[in-house]
Amino acid sequence: MQSRVRIVLVETSHAGNIGAVARAMKNMGLDDLALVRCVPHLSGQAVARASGADDLLHRARLFDSLEEAVADCQLVIGASARLRRVRWPQLDPRQCARKVAAEEAAGRKVALLFGRERTGLSNAELDLCHYLVHIPANPEYSSLNLAMAVQVIAYELRMAKSAPVPEEEREPAPLAAFEGFMDHLVEALYDIGYLDERNPEKLLRRLRRLFHRAELDAHEINILRGILNAAQGKKRRSGEGREQWMRKTI
Ligand code: SAH
Repeated sequence: MQSRVRIVLVETSHAGNIGAVARAMKNMGLDDLALVRCVPHLSGQAVARASGADDLLHRARLFDSLEEAVADCQLVIGASARLRRVRWPQLDPRQCARKVAAEEAAGRKVALLFGRERTGLSNAELDLCHYLVHIPANPEYSSLNLAMAVQVIAYELRMAKSAPVPEEEREPAPLAAFEGFMDHLVEALYDIGYLDERNPEKLLRRLRRLFHRAELDAHEINILRGILNAAQGKKRRSGEGREQWMRKTI
């Protein structure tokens, strides 16, 4: 199935760049390439730089005008090497990718426009765009090679679309179990002589935060308590002194 995202190149003057764009697209799973008044796109240089993505070059569609190339698209975003003044709403590649992913999910077609190597996109061409996307770069040298710009944006599209890594099904333990573990931890730290007995609060608060961050489940709490038991088995201090100390401090 053809992807719903079209990469549109406007008046590209180096055939090698067109090939490199095809490669960048294919790497990221895009396959809809539209060429508006570009140099011949099946030249030796283009095919060489496409390096195995020449199927995209063969399937590329050629247009005489930008309007025709994007006529069926509901969202048009222009890639610009320069930060423009307020006239066009601006996105960074990640924001752009999120917007595109949402449009795609809604079954809409999106075009991403890339301009000429020397002069970029004209104002009239930018007027067709709902948004501009700018890749943040060195302000004194912000213009990327055309195919590199396509690569960065296509990569973000892919990242935005890839299914979120499913969270492992884990059920954090109820608070009482967590508190039981913390009590046990205090006991064990006392037993092994790790606590500064006069001022344990700071350390305990840190440990509490650390273990809260881990969102321990019941099984993990059991493991940790098993470890505490084992440590205590080796080092258990006299029960009575400990009880007294615990009553005093906690
Ligand atoms: N000299 C031109 C830049 C041309 S680079 C200018 O100043 O506009 C060719 C195309 O690559 C640009 O039209 C744009 O579509 C894309 N491009 C290059 N650098 C980019 C950047 N930092 N952010 C977004 N697109 C960029």
